[in-house]
Amino acid sequence: MAKKQFKAESKRLLEMMINSIYSQREVFLRELISNASDAIDKIYYKALTDNRYQFDKDSYYIKVLADKENRTLTISDTGIGMTKEELETNLGTIAKSGSLAFKKETEIKDGHDIIGQFGVGFYAAFMVADVVTVISKALGNEEAYKWESKGADGYTIETVDKDTVGTDIILKIKESTEDESYDEFLEEYRLKSIIKKYSDFIRYPIKMDITTSKLKEGSESEYEQVTEEQVINSMVPIWRKNKSELTDEDYEKFYNEKHYGFDKPLKHIHISVDGTIRYNAILYIPESIPFDYYSKEYEKGLELYSNGVLIMNKCADLLPDYFSFVKGLVDSEDLSLNISREMLQQDRQLKLIAKNINKKIKSELQSMLKNEREKYEKFYDSFGRQLKFGVYSDYGSNKDTLQDLLLFYSSKEKKLVTLDEYVSRMPEDQKYIYYATGDSVERIDKLPQTELVADKGYEILYFTEDIDEFAIKMLMKYKEKEFKSVSSSDLGFEPNESDKATEEEQNENKELFEYMKNALAGKVTDVRISKRLKTHPVCLSTDGEISIEMEKILNAMPDNQNIKADKVLEINVHHEVFQSLKAAFEQDKTKLDLYTHLLYNQALLIEGLPIQDPVEFTNDICKIMV
Ligand code: ADP
Ligand code: MG
Repeated sequence: MAKKQFKAESKRLLEMMINSIYSQREVFLRELISNASDAIDKIYYKALTDNRYQFDKDSYYIKVLADKENRTLTISDTGIGMTKEELETNLGTIAKSGSLAFKKETEIKDGHDIIGQFGVGFYAAFMVADVVTVISKALGNEEAYKWESKGADGYTIETVDKDTVGTDIILKIKESTEDESYDEFLEEYRLKSIIKKYSDFIRYPIKMDITTSKLKEGSESEYEQVTEEQVINSMVPIWRKNKSELTDEDYEKFYNEKHYGFDKPLKHIHISVDGTIRYNAILYIPESIPFDYYSKEYEKGLELYSNGVLIMNKCADLLPDYFSFVKGLVDSEDLSLNISREMLQQDRQLKLIAKNINKKIKSELQSMLKNEREKYEKFYDSFGRQLKFGVYSDYGSNKDTLQDLLLFYSSKEKKLVTLDEYVSRMPEDQKYIYYATGDSVERIDKLPQTELVADKGYEILYFTEDIDEFAIKMLMKYKEKEFKSVSSSDLGFEPNESDKATEEEQNENKELFEYMKNALAGKVTDVRISKRLKTHPVCLSTDGEISIEMEKILNAMPDNQNIKADKVLEINVHHEVFQSLKAAFEQDKTKLDLYTHLLYNQALLIEGLPIQDPVEFTNDICKIMV
């Protein structure tokens, strides 16, 4: 059977393509500049293998020229140009990429920087122009040609005069309508910013005539408009430079130029990988928290470049949430882009890069922690919370990655310590990692619950942030040591003589405690003799998984489900108050009720919990005064 060719409504196809590939019109300039850069690159590659040609870098450039009066925007290059045939095949055939063919023909080992591959970018010009005129003279040819098209209706070609080798693309910018303005594409500042955004690292100079007001020569007050040719792009991507050529200042300057932050970066990480997937990356760990960091508005992500051309402003897939503070960029020549070059065709390469980057960030933080402790503490002050969120979220799946990056304030050291430091100096008889929760270090210092643990000589970690205890609950253990709150009813000490005494005392006063428990029904689940108090008369502890701190946090959340910790009122039997309780139990139950409530409310105050009825509490105090 004879095979038939598909037919395409090329007019419609072109129209569809022009208006549906790109999400933003401004990328037309990125496409035309990329083509110009490719055209210059082609001379460069030719000169490498053909000694009829020399490549003298200074004579190659791209120029962008706006003419408001005539509504034209011209993009000129001194590149390889196109013959008549090339104009027909490359610009007259949709999806025909002369650049891709060139890449395949010339086998240059070093890897190509040529950007073009899909053969559609050129048509982006029709997003902003009614008429596109291309005047081109090919390298080694005498004649020049003019190609002209109004888009879907086709094109014309004729001979024309042009002195120099290269190509001029002249766009007749569309008239603005009520809904759409195209005037911006004739504005100097706008064009400049588009070039900066997408084409800053094109390796050849992109020039524009920039007009500024300058003081007239010899005058002190008279200004004149001066037009000067300026190079707009930075050209050399710093990430392609050798690390040894770059100073800290270079990296800091780049950080500021890129507007990654207003601060100075705490650390930069420069990665060059030449493996199965090749990429360069410059990453920064900022010093201070961006103002919107802990808000919903904050968007994480790295800039993604393909061959020096910006593809994505914030590629979120490159960073895990727990490292969302990292700023910077990745440039890879091995990404398979989709046709609009705004998205990736497949994410296997991206995943691979993300995985490597993630490892690298972690190891850099670890080495900062080890070698530059002060710096790390600064970092931790800004972003430690994010790491703890990282331990907690995703059901703890990242806890192994993050646990060694955590720091907590230590009762012993009076500064931040790592879990490893804590565990490595635990006395042999200590079975648990102890922690205490509270609003601040000062407050925890005064918690009666810490007394006994501290008395044993055990170090206590202070949890002052909401997330701390949740993160630790997710961690469960560190180096086989479980975490234990100093407020949990069982501190996990080996039973000893004094415990026995306590038990006896508990039995002897069973009825007293039972009475107090009933008086506080609904408020506490038990009243017991405390094993942990030394000087304070009372405190609260908890049975079960939910601590008092967690109760506070959970109930402050918008969808609070009124979760309650099982609170235990602990009484210090060595305190004189206990004798008063005993006496009241024998002689005066109203007094016992009064004392019980007073003690309970005191315990609440110590915990930083609200007293249900403060007026009643103050009245109760007055009662014992008179
Ligand atoms: P791509 O750049 O992906 O190949 P384009 O549609 O942007 O696709 O361009 C099509 C082809 O036209 C290019 O591959 C190149 O051969 C040719 N071309 C476009 N612009 C120029 C230029 N300024 N100089 C020389 N050739 C060009
Ligand atoms: Mg192109």
